[in-house]
Amino acid sequence: MAETIFTKIINRDIPADIIYENDHVLAFNDINPQAPTHFLVIPKKPIATINDIEPEDAEIVGQLYLAAAHIAKQNGFAESGYRAVMNCNPDGGQTVYHIHLHVLAGKPMGWPPYQNNLKQQLP
Ligand code: AMP
Repeated sequence: MAETIFTKIINRDIPADIIYENDHVLAFNDINPQAPTHFLVIPKKPIATINDIEPEDAEIVGQLYLAAAHIAKQNGFAESGYRAVMNCNPDGGQTVYHIHLHVLAGKPMGWPPYQNNLKQQLP
């Protein structure tokens, strides 16, 4: 797959506000935060989209959630709560093709996360 900006962050070719790292994942604050706390957890292995996750990647994907929960506990928002979401392809809002878990916290979030006329379109 083509190298993305996230590979450059992993390799320290460009700077990022890194908040956590282990053998499997890296977490850094989102450059355009959508909540008081908004960071991304990415695998060090580049995987373009959710659709490209192979069975042997299952542990890596689990590591994203383990890191998110660890950071939430360390930073005191595990109990108040947070949203962990991964976008896939254009309709999912994905812009960087290296899978990443968005972790958003620090304010109550609504559901559904968008407004549309879907109910009116249904037969
Ligand atoms: P997505 O649209 O789901 O692919 O999310 C990509 C996210 O990466 C967006 O929230 C961007 O603000 C964020 N982003 C892009 N470049 C950087 C960067 N250099 N450092 C931190 N976050 C970034």
